[in-house]
Amino acid sequence: MLTDSPPRKGRLAQFQESDRTVTLALPTLAQLLTLAQSIEAGMKAGKGPEVRVGCGRFLQSLSQFYGVPPCGIRVLASRPLRIRENWSSELFGDYDPSTMAIRVWMRTAVKKEVTSFGTLFSTLCHEYCHHLDFQLFKFADSWHTRGFYERAATLYHHSRGTAPKRLFWVPIKGGRWRIDWPRTNRG
Ligand SMILES: [Zn+2]
Repeated sequence: MLTDSPPRKGRLAQFQESDRTVTLALPTLAQLLTLAQSIEAGMKAGKGPEVRVGCGRFLQSLSQFYGVPPCGIRVLASRPLRIRENWSSELFGDYDPSTMAIRVWMRTAVKKEVTSFGTLFSTLCHEYCHHLDFQLFKFADSWHTRGFYERAATLYHHSRGTAPKRLFWVPIKGGRWRIDWPRTNRG
């Protein structure tokens, strides 16, 4: 995981606010856990429609909790050839702010391997955090800041009922940061 470069002056304050905002209010666990498990069951059965219904309910309950407009969800069989985000070579979803819609896909483009539940669910939480950036935090853009990754990880672990990891970052050139995975994994 790598953060985006800071934007030019006009949006720098919002970028810094995104970077600083490392916590996220969270809905009650039990309901989310049930929804996460229904997505996992759908994936294990290889049933796209069940995964889509589970993802839709999960996002709907989040949007009710945060008091933001609902966002759409499409679960695709495999990764489309054209994608909006290109910040990562391993990519399992995207979010379009103009239509407020998330897409996730169940198979990789090249090898057609089934995406793991953890990867799909973490993608879903990541893309939903883009939705929150625009609709809850009212940012002009949705940057991959350290705060963004912290919020996405918080939502992911809370919704799965797994222990959150503290993320350790290493500065790289251009005002960007990358995750120090060995240190993060050691905890
Ligand atoms: Zn993203």
